[in-house]
Amino acid sequence: MEAGIVGLPNVGKSTLFNALTEAGAEASNYPFCTIEPNTGVVKVPDSNLHLINRFIPTERLLPSIVRIMDIAGLVRGASKGEGLGNKFLSHIREVDAVLQVVRCFEDENITHVDGSIDPIRDIETIETELLLADLEAAETALYKTAKIARSGDKEAQIRAKLLEQCVTALQEGKPIRSHGFSDPEEVKILKSFGMLTAKQVLFITNVDEADLEAGSSAHVEAVKAYAEANGGKVITVCAKIESELAELEPEDRMEMLESLGMKEPALDKVVRAAYHLLGLQSYYTAGPKEIRAWPIRIGTRAPQAAGVIHGDFERGFIRAEVYSIDDMVAYKTEAEIRAAGKLRVEGKEYVMQEKDVVHFLFNV
Ligand code: GDP
Repeated sequence: MEAGIVGLPNVGKSTLFNALTEAGAEASNYPFCTIEPNTGVVKVPDSNLHLINRFIPTERLLPSIVRIMDIAGLVRGASKGEGLGNKFLSHIREVDAVLQVVRCFEDENITHVDGSIDPIRDIETIETELLLADLEAAETALYKTAKIARSGDKEAQIRAKLLEQCVTALQEGKPIRSHGFSDPEEVKILKSFGMLTAKQVLFITNVDEADLEAGSSAHVEAVKAYAEANGGKVITVCAKIESELAELEPEDRMEMLESLGMKEPALDKVVRAAYHLLGLQSYYTAGPKEIRAWPIRIGTRAPQAAGVIHGDFERGFIRAEVYSIDDMVAYKTEAEIRAAGKLRVEGKEYVMQEKDVVHFLFNV
């Protein structure tokens, strides 16, 4: 699961990406993730780890991670091969969610490719390229699928019907994500089409320091209205400040945050939003060696959740002993949780919940 940063040139993508990966996770703790150039492995800030650690002493806290790719090179005409063109689009195809950096800051020393600051125009430039690429792909797929559907193939008929809806939406200039497909079966088939505009989007409005302090700006409000109408969430950052924050030692960082009236770096919000955008949530394991957050898709059952730790845990899954962090806060120790009958024994069908702390029992 990976999110990709996109945006026009000179909007602050690299600044943001570098700040995100400045305190990048040490890859040796996460052997399952290979790291390619321009991909960062970013820790997901998680106060639950500290909360658990108040009750369970441990050697280290290991947050969950998200992979974030810096996808440079989008210019107008990409769908027709301009700039990095198809290469750029194939990178977006690979990622599971899109973080679109939108320039909302004025700075006459930093040129804008279109000569002025206009976030909605910029968003539309990018969305148009993605829409055009999707439209071409959807029309080609529909042509092929319709042929098979005419021979009576039921599955092809379902796919063709969905593709027709996609083509219609795209012709109207609507991203697939705003079409409101919600039936899980439909969503699954839709995923297999690999449509770019079907991916969830977070718009990251990159503002001036002054606008950050003011809390918003006309540009930011315009982006929020756009996201409301076309699907997507919005988080505001000042990339320049975030890059300064990322370079500071924790103590100095706290001081700077305080002076800015901020509780945490805006990038922490971005990372958590990316995690949710990817459909991920965490469960926890806690012991004297480490307290750790593990990433799973929302809706994952216990054996598959165990499999994230090790394949053997899934293959030999017997049961899971589960309690909620809230129980830990209420009862203070695992022994007390057990004594109060709050330690649940869950089987193969159990769907993991937010704040679950787990011991897996397995046999291989
Ligand atoms: P990219 O082309 O989108 O990757 O943009 P960069 O991250 O390279 O940024 C382009 C220029 O804008 C650099 O000189 C940055 O220092 C500057 N920049 C980035 N974010 C901000 C910001 O929030 N405020 C101001 N004033 N400048 C910024």
